[in-house]
Amino acid sequence: MARKTYYGPIIDVSFDGAICQHSGECVRGMGEVFDTTKRPWINPTQANTPELADQLRQVVGRCPSGALEIGEHWSRP
Ligand code: SF4
Repeated sequence: MARKTYYGPIIDVSFDGAICQHSGECVRGMGEVFDTTKRPWINPTQANTPELADQLRQVVGRCPSGALEIGEHWSRP
């Protein structure tokens, strides 16, 4: 499966399902962004304040497999 990007107002999140270990860190860490009952199951539009964006960065940082990655808007070309 190819890496797919989900866009938000402050940061984007990309996900590669081929390397996800299904540990659930993301869902436990920030259920309003990572909700497997919804489609798409990653919704970075919920992280719409600097504080929530920081929380999302931390949750993505705890992803053990590297399946999740953050895309910072300031780093876009
Ligand atoms: S934290 Fe990473 S490895 Fe774990 S379920 Fe979420 S995406 Fe998959």
